[in-house]
Amino acid sequence: MKKIKVNNPIVEIDGDEMARVIWKYIKKYFIIPYLDIKIIYFDLGIENRNITNDKITVEAAYAIKKYNVGIKCATITPDENRVKEFYLKKMWKSPNGTIRNIINGTVFREPIIVKNIYRSIKNWKNPICIARHAYADQYQATDFIVKGKGKLYISFIPDDNKKNKPIKFEIYHFMDPGIAMGMYNTDKSIYGFARSCFNYSIYKKWPLFLSTKNTILKAYDGRFKNIFQEIYNNEFKSKFENLQITYEHRLIDDMIAKAIKSNGKFIWACKNYDGDVLSDCIAQGFGSLGMMTSVLLTPDGKTLESEAAHGTITRHYRLYQKGKETSTNPIASIFSWTRGLKHRAILDKNIDLKFFSEKMEKACIDFIESGKMTKDLVQQSNEKNKYLSTKTFLKELKIFFDKKMNKKI
Ligand code: NAP
Ligand code: MG
Repeated sequence: MKKIKVNNPIVEIDGDEMARVIWKYIKKYFIIPYLDIKIIYFDLGIENRNITNDKITVEAAYAIKKYNVGIKCATITPDENRVKEFYLKKMWKSPNGTIRNIINGTVFREPIIVKNIYRSIKNWKNPICIARHAYADQYQATDFIVKGKGKLYISFIPDDNKKNKPIKFEIYHFMDPGIAMGMYNTDKSIYGFARSCFNYSIYKKWPLFLSTKNTILKAYDGRFKNIFQEIYNNEFKSKFENLQITYEHRLIDDMIAKAIKSNGKFIWACKNYDGDVLSDCIAQGFGSLGMMTSVLLTPDGKTLESEAAHGTITRHYRLYQKGKETSTNPIASIFSWTRGLKHRAILDKNIDLKFFSEKMEKACIDFIESGKMTKDLVQQSNEKNKYLSTKTFLKELKIFFDKKMNKKI
């Protein structure tokens, strides 16, 4: 069987713990035997990040920017315990945060649907894809405790006082102790978010919704609404009309009600906090974290990094380290390869590669629908107690996939 020729490289980013264990098998079973591809490899395992003073993460991000496709395994974000566990020189920052800051994009999370896994909402026949504006708002806010009586102000002092005048608002006159917060966002970041969302919507050929609470936060959320509308009118309207897809702004309450009633198959652009909360809600509603994909797309739609939405699955790794059997779901990690490869295929106009990545995804879904499952899925299906170990699942999936591919190639 001839391997599929991939003309341009992809950037592979290795990770940690159980995710790293399954990653090795995915590459060996499903990628190397089928593709003639140049892989630019970065080891972002915590030990190597520590040895390189985290330079490896920055280098990986620039490589993704250069080659436009990154495929990433889950990585540990260190906390105090991890610093002790790995004798880290520093509490290195989240690799995902570092990569996102360098390539500057929006994260889209989408569940993989299989028929025999229950969904909390019966009518969710298709995925709901959440786009989270992962910049500022509550996550870079200044919040504090007000100890007693006094006035709370917010002010803006312009650097250039010829252009703008200083402004000061009285927020509240406290008579008792309480709490307060100041937060911000920037036009630049919202424009980038909007463009990433419209581009991803075109890529998926799915409609786009933006949710805000602009009836209450007229200036703040209103700015999100206005920027999206402006970008839509000026840059995307005709492309959307050609594809027969739509863009709409909805109040967040209305949008939640719509999502619950819907059959899925749309992209939901959320502000930072809403996206944080709703993406976990949607992930659980669709089944397992092991079935949730995540891609980071730049505003120009050119660079894409894909990964599983879950972490390194430490609890399973502890069992693996003791030589005990595990049942870890590799599907979202496999989809991080297929989604990255599909983007490479689209950029290079490589039909064989596009076909390969779609075939791989279909094989994963068919395999689970034939009743083969890991423990996380069995708990959400009728196949009670019949689950496969991590290794058996991967081995049987390989046999299943090889058969499907040999039929066609
Ligand atoms: P996690 O790795 O997502 O795992 C949490 C739990 O979810 C697991 O214990 C397991 O539940 C279930 N789960 C997740 N993925 C699964 C899969 N593929 N198959 C079966 N079950 C799965 O989150 P965590 O334990 O909170 O975090 C572990 C490490 O990952 C942390 O160091 C964190 O920094 C890192 N992290 C990295 C990323 C990333 O790189 N994108 C994202 C999140 C977290 P049961 O134990 O009930 O089986
Ligand atoms: Mg969350």
